[in-house]
This record gives sequence, C-alpha cells and structure tokens, in this order.
Amino acid sequence: MIEFNIPPCIDTAYDYIADCVRAHKICGDGTYTKKCQTFLSDRLGAPYVYLTPSCTAALEMAAILTGIRPGDEVILPSYTFCSTADAFVQRGAVLVFVDIRPDTMNIDETLIEDAITDKTRAIVPVHYAGVACEMDTILDIARRRHLMVVEDAAQAIGSTYKGRMLGTLGDFGCYSFHETKNYSMGEGGALSFNDGAFRDAAEICREKGTDRSRFFRGQVDKYTWRDYGSSYLPSDINAAYLWAQLECFDRIFDDRMASFNDYQEGLRDLAEAGLIEQPVIPEGCTHNAHMYYLKLENIDVRQKLIAFLREQGIQSVFHYIPLHSSPAGLKFGRFHGKDIVTTRDSERLMRLPLYYGLTADDRIRVIEAIHRFFRG
Ligand SMILES: *Cc1c(COP(=O)(O)O)cnc(C)c1O
Repeated sequence: MIEFNIPPCIDTAYDYIADCVRAHKICGDGTYTKKCQTFLSDRLGAPYVYLTPSCTAALEMAAILTGIRPGDEVILPSYTFCSTADAFVQRGAVLVFVDIRPDTMNIDETLIEDAITDKTRAIVPVHYAGVACEMDTILDIARRRHLMVVEDAAQAIGSTYKGRMLGTLGDFGCYSFHETKNYSMGEGGALSFNDGAFRDAAEICREKGTDRSRFFRGQVDKYTWRDYGSSYLPSDINAAYLWAQLECFDRIFDDRMASFNDYQEGLRDLAEAGLIEQPVIPEGCTHNAHMYYLKLENIDVRQKLIAFLREQGIQSVFHYIPLHSSPAGLKFGRFHGKDIVTTRDSERLMRLPLYYGLTADDRIRVIEAIHRFFRG
C-alpha cells in the first residue's frame, strides 16, 4: 500500500523528547519552542514568530489581534479549510467568499475589490498547495482600502512570492505543523508578524490573556489578566519533535520537491493529451512541494481514478468541499459574485501520495498506474 501521507519523523526527535521529559520541562515556551521560533524567524525573515498548538489557533490569534468585531466582514476564498473562516466567525465576523483562479486554486485577486463594503475589515488569502496568491494586488487593495491581511500560510512554509517568504507579506502569517503538513509536531502551528506594535498584544493573547511574558522578562513585578486570550502555547514535547525536522529543513524540502518534480515530469504526456491538468506555479513564485494535485475532466472521472488507484494499492484523496455550500458557511457567510471555478474545480481535483521518504519506485508505480487508468 502506498499511503497518501506519512508524517515526517527524524530520529533525533527521540532524544529531544527524552530530553524534555527528563528535565521535567514539558509545558510551553521551553528550550525547544525557543529553538523552533528562532529558526523560523531567521528562515522566514519575520521578526516575530510564536509557536501555537495549531494553525487554527494561529488564525484565532490573528482574528483577535486584527480587532475583528461582530458584524465586520472578512473576504476569503470558499475553497479552503474551515479554520480559515471559523477563526473570524468566532469573533462575530461575516464571511464574504469570492471565487478562485483556475490555475492556482487561490483567491481570484481581481474579484476582491468588488466584494468590499464599508464593513470589510480584512482579506484572508490562502496559499493553496504552498503556491502564492497574487500578493502585490492583494496588498495594494489592502493599503488603499485600509484593510488588514491575514495570510493562511498553513501549507506554505518555505514558499516565496517575488523573493519573500509566504506568511510574511501581510499583517499576520499563520502556519501549520499538523501531521499532514511538510514539517510536523503532530498538532501545531505558528503565528508570524513584522510589526513590533503587535508584540505585547500577541503575547497577552497567547498567554491566556495575561502579561506573563512581560513578568518573565522582569518588566512587571506580577502578572495579571489583561485582555482576551486563550491557551495558545504548545507543549515543548511537541516542539522537540518539530525541532528535529527543522534541523534538516532543506533535506525534507528537497526530498518532497523530488517527488513533486517526478510527478510533474511523469504525467506531462497526459496533460499534453488533454486528459489531466497539472499544477501551475506562476512567474515570480517558488513553492515548497506541499501537495501534488491533478484535475480531471469531472467528478465522475476523478472518483473512478481514486477507486482504480485504491485497487492498485495506492491511496489518493480529494480535497475541500467549498465552505459556502456547507451548513456553517451558509449560516455565517455569503458568496459574492458568481461561483464559476470554486465548485467546478473542487470536484475535479485529487491529490497523490507525497511525503518525506516517498521512494522513487513508489512514485513510478503511481505514475504508471495513472497511465494504465487512461489506457484502459
Ligand atoms: C491544515 C490547514 C489549516 C489548519 O491547520 P491546523 O494546524 O490543523 O489547525 C488551516 N488552513 C489550511 C489552508 C490548511 O491547509
């Protein structure tokens, strides 16, 4: 069986975890959390990076820090994971979904401006498959219309847009280290931002609404409840597991890229014959091989191919059901403009096995099985 995903595990993780346990340092903000944060801050070129228990938690923090209030509107794609939306809904926001681009499955930046009302507060671009949204246009709209930009970079760690790391272009960047992502701590994530003015508020929000971080730095002599917050620190045990991977960031990155490139090469003939569509990486963008997806003619062909691959011992999966057609999406939001691409392409898309350690032989097996499907 070729699995769709196997979470990355680097052997040194066993030592690092034992280290935490032996030292009785298993709560948040320990040595490994600090190591991870420093590394990420360096790598991303973002001055402020905080590990969180999930990307969902990072999005919730961003929603609090942007000061979203009941009745405010947030513009986002419908083709995304529910956490992108839910974090803002929890603050009382109304979701305004706009259509996506067919080439990248990312929010169609040309449709955003028309969806803005005097209630709009934020734009939430999602970098699907670790490929950048058209950030120049989005940031320009945000600047002109005084909106905040929260990047859902859950899938996008290590990808760039015009030389800058995704997640560091807007006001806040939210990353995921869930076990399905490129680097993992089981459940985990990170929040990044560039503007030091958010530091105190971010620390308070992350520490259950208290100014504990200032207390630890000796800036106040006791700590107290200051504002909204929650428990947004992961255990250092999880950070230790992640740290082992961050130490070999490039090895994991290159290994995934080799799989992506093999699929891209090996399936090109089927794309040229018009049987499949392959992912597109726009000019000026580099990606992180988070995902390899194909688009088929329609949902019927997709389901047949998934079933065919399963018979061949290969696990492949579809992806998001558009949020605007889900019960919560209907309750909390509206679709602005026409849904031309979102539903049509979400039904045609499927993802192939891709994880750190997927062997070259396995990739060939997948590529050959897909060819057999179209020959038969
Ligand atoms: C994985 C993912 C999330 C959620 O990440 P968690 O760390 O599981 O909370 C949010 N948005 C997108 C686009 C994702 O892919």
